[in-house]
Amino acid sequence: MTPFTYHKPASVADALALLAEPGATPLGGGTNLVDLMRKGVETPDHLVDVQDLPLGEIAETDDGGLRIGALVSNTALAAHDRVRRDYRMVSEATLAGASQQLRNRATTGGNLLQRTRCYYFTEPGYPCNKREPGSGCPAKDGFNRIHAILGESDACIATHPSDMCVALAALDATVEIEGRGGQRQVPLVDFHLLPGDTPDVETVLAADEIITAVTLPPPSDASRQSVYVKVRDRQSYAFALVSVAAGLALGADGQVEDVRLALGGVAHKPWRAFDAEDLLRGGPATDDAFRQAGEAIVADATGYGHNDFKIPLAPRTVAVALGKALARAQRASGDAR
Ligand SMILES: Cc1cc2nc3c(=O)[nH]c(=O)nc-3n(C[C@H](O)[C@H](O)[C@H](O)COP(=O)(O)OP(=O)(O)OC[C@H]3O[C@@H](n4cnc5c(N)ncnc54)[C@H](O)[C@@H]3O)c2cc1C
Ligand code: SF4
Repeated sequence: MTPFTYHKPASVADALALLAEPGATPLGGGTNLVDLMRKGVETPDHLVDVQDLPLGEIAETDDGGLRIGALVSNTALAAHDRVRRDYRMVSEATLAGASQQLRNRATTGGNLLQRTRCYYFTEPGYPCNKREPGSGCPAKDGFNRIHAILGESDACIATHPSDMCVALAALDATVEIEGRGGQRQVPLVDFHLLPGDTPDVETVLAADEIITAVTLPPPSDASRQSVYVKVRDRQSYAFALVSVAAGLALGADGQVEDVRLALGGVAHKPWRAFDAEDLLRGGPATDDAFRQAGEAIVADATGYGHNDFKIPLAPRTVAVALGKALARAQRASGDAR
């Protein structure tokens, strides 16, 4: 590990002043960053530990949504009463990630900014365009079982590993960012970037800004009747090969009134399936319709050999997730009668 200075500011203003220094990096729970520092993948000159900042609360917003402070642990988020009741897919997705010990330590802000699990990225002995722009992408012709099938580029085929972000993308969450110039809000679906020619630029966050919170809009029937389905090599403690966050609301005629759909494990960012949602909205809530929506998502997908299996797996997982959301929606309308 290369030497670095360590700072633990107590206010956001002090943290931002420290982050203005070149080579300064925020430290959340450390469950990702410290691993990468040990391996020499990340080499910050200054660590700015944000854990003493007043960002650890979950609070109701004026419009009935939720503001989740950047330091809220994954455990606290998943267990929060309103998250479990009104944004069920967020609770399920967060619980599907990592292990209990890691979730106790990991923060909401850190989860959004965790780095890819691409084997070549995490081993500095290999070239990698994300770690060292212009050096190449060995994953394209190498072992790429966990890699992207959608939105990838010649420069990079890595995936974003977060589960929580998939549900946040499906529910139109907003990321609250603070820099020395003030605050701004960015929709979560626009926060992470596709790799293009610059896979080293992963989000719209500037080096001297921090995430202060994530906001969920007021709940809807689709956010309550929602589900997260994660397909992985082991039943616990493994990243998603393909995952789906789905929420469904039915009209009085039993047709799809509202639907939310996002996928994980398939792209460089959480993949909100807007077109598939449009296909489903106003149509029948049937297995056939769910399968067709899933097929539409992968119509332009590309496999790189070891990850070809994701192309048929993604629509099957979409159909399973929508089927489970439908069961929840039907149960809710039964309960309401
Ligand atoms: C063995 C293992 C298995 C895992 N399995 C899963 C899984 O299945 N699913 C899943 O989703 N995740 C999984 N994770 C990842 C885990 O969820 C992340 O490591 C964790 O969420 C990161 O949060 P953190 O607070 O520890 O971040 P840190 O490690 O502290 O930071 C991560 C990044 O975020 C930046 N950062 C942190 N907070 C802020 C902030 N407020 N503002 C700006 N930048 C910030 C840091 O600079 C760093 O770049 C796993 C991790 C491990 C070690
Ligand atoms: S897929 Fe991306 S992260 Fe992995 S080796 Fe290629 S450039 Fe690096």
